[in-house]
Amino acid sequence: MQTSFTPAQLLDPDVASSEAILRKCVHCGFCTATCPTYVLLGDELDSPRGRIYLIKDMLENARPATAALVPHIDRCLSCLSCMTTCPSGVHYQHLIDHARVHVERTYRRPWRERALRALLAHTLPYPRRLRASLAGAIVLRRLLELLPRGMRAQAARLPEPLRALFSLVPERLPPAALDLPAPAGAARRGRVALLTGCAQSVLSPRAQSASVRLLRRAGWEVVVVEGCCGALVHHLGRPRHAHSFAAGLIERVVAERDDKGLDAVVVNASGCGTHVKDYGFVFRADPVLAAAAAAVSAMTRDITELLHASGLPQPVTPRALSIAYHSACSMQHGQNLDAIPRELLRAAGFVLVPFGEGHLCCGSAGTYNILQPQIARQLRDRKLDHIQCTSAQVIATGNVGCMVQLASAAKLPVVHTVELLDWATGGPPPLALAETAASAAR
Ligand code: SF4
Ligand code: SF4
Repeated sequence: MQTSFTPAQLLDPDVASSEAILRKCVHCGFCTATCPTYVLLGDELDSPRGRIYLIKDMLENARPATAALVPHIDRCLSCLSCMTTCPSGVHYQHLIDHARVHVERTYRRPWRERALRALLAHTLPYPRRLRASLAGAIVLRRLLELLPRGMRAQAARLPEPLRALFSLVPERLPPAALDLPAPAGAARRGRVALLTGCAQSVLSPRAQSASVRLLRRAGWEVVVVEGCCGALVHHLGRPRHAHSFAAGLIERVVAERDDKGLDAVVVNASGCGTHVKDYGFVFRADPVLAAAAAAVSAMTRDITELLHASGLPQPVTPRALSIAYHSACSMQHGQNLDAIPRELLRAAGFVLVPFGEGHLCCGSAGTYNILQPQIARQLRDRKLDHIQCTSAQVIATGNVGCMVQLASAAKLPVVHTVELLDWATGGPPPLALAETAASAAR
């Protein structure tokens, strides 16, 4: 694609990067077929190619984002399915990230949208705030259930994004403290840092405990590094907020590496993993953090990637369960890791059942299921319809956002991949399985 940025514009490293990306696009449109929003809406402007044209026009002309353009950018899930499909190697991820920042800098959203986005940005990445908000929402929901039906219907007339937010609140909160097992025996392989993240540490602490057990059983010494990686606010187009989270995490990881040495940084939420692996690009022009950020990115592995390379611990009990493995977009498109988690599950004795449209997003996409609830719901239901047509007994995935999104409507238990691998190699059964068995027995 021809571009006409001026030399002065190209002095900005973000514009220079986007220009190089735009020039790779040959307008072939292959990407449209695998884009979830184009599949659902059928509008070229809600396809990767359409968005690329809109972004090019906006950036080339240094034009503020308009009310006509913003919905098309907002409707993009950043699922990166288009990157997997594109034969020309268009790095759509960096282009849409740049566009989101440009939108937030040049467009004044209606106050409700601004308030909701600010609420999400100042709650979700902070485990204590998120936990307190979820506890409040659970109490509120129980109080609402005590009201007479007519009053309940009145009270439930919340704006749609708030209803979507409520629908994602779990029945009860998992325990606050991480149940981290003590080291058993000497670490044979080396030392790794496990990132516990923000929302996952509140919503799925069992995935963290299972990860630690699994890694230790595989011979790794595990040190836990806490804190948000910045991915959630990065996708909201808030670079300063995202950079401050990322800078803190980079400093903590580098301190660990310089103190006792690190062989890898391990991530068990693929949305976070995709972002941490991109730190090298995000901080490329930062005079202080560029080298450290690139080093952290280079050391980062999804937990399945590390276990696959170093060897899964020997399965101790055959678990003849049929699993529908949902490959999170950030796993299959963001990190090009589709086969490895499946191979590990099979090696642990599980039976994987195939289902249709595995490349399409489930609608989670960070905060997308709250900001774009209608499209998110359609994608979730489409995914679950496909899974429901199989003989699967459990849904497994490697990203906490997908777990919450699918669990909000799934008839099957939804678990993290590491919970299954931990169980098969000597750990406790995933809680979601035990709860399903208990409710079936009642
Ligand atoms: S990231 Fe996903 S939703 Fe966005 S344009 Fe690409 S395929 Fe479509
Ligand atoms: S597939 Fe790649 S080259 Fe073709 S239109 Fe889409 S982004 Fe452009």
